[in-house]
Amino acid sequence: MRPPVHGLELDPETRCAHWRGPLDIIALKMRCCGRYYACHACHDALENHPVRVWPKAEWDQTAVLCGACGHELSVHAYLASGSRCPACEAAFNPGCRNHHHLYFEPE
Ligand SMILES: [Zn+2]
Ligand SMILES: [Zn+2]
Ligand SMILES: [Zn+2]
Repeated sequence: MRPPVHGLELDPETRCAHWRGPLDIIALKMRCCGRYYACHACHDALENHPVRVWPKAEWDQTAVLCGACGHELSVHAYLASGSRCPACEAAFNPGCRNHHHLYFEPE
């Protein structure tokens, strides 16, 4: 069952008002509220608490959703995915790695 994803101007593959490129198809579960958001800016627009990043000890939890097929990845699996969904092989935006610190504890 595909979990609900929240955000502004979401499309069916979880693109949002902020990230609308062809590869911007992942949603991230926020450690603070356990809800999937298209991006941290969507979270900040719709929630009134600060984002909490995933501590490294919890990187085995599912925290990333492929918007193309609905497959959920753990943080470890996402970081090891090579910017491609292991289930449907849809390409993820490799530029997302520049924003990992917004979601995951820095390595
Ligand atoms: Zn939250
Ligand atoms: Zn957004
Ligand atoms: Zn997929």
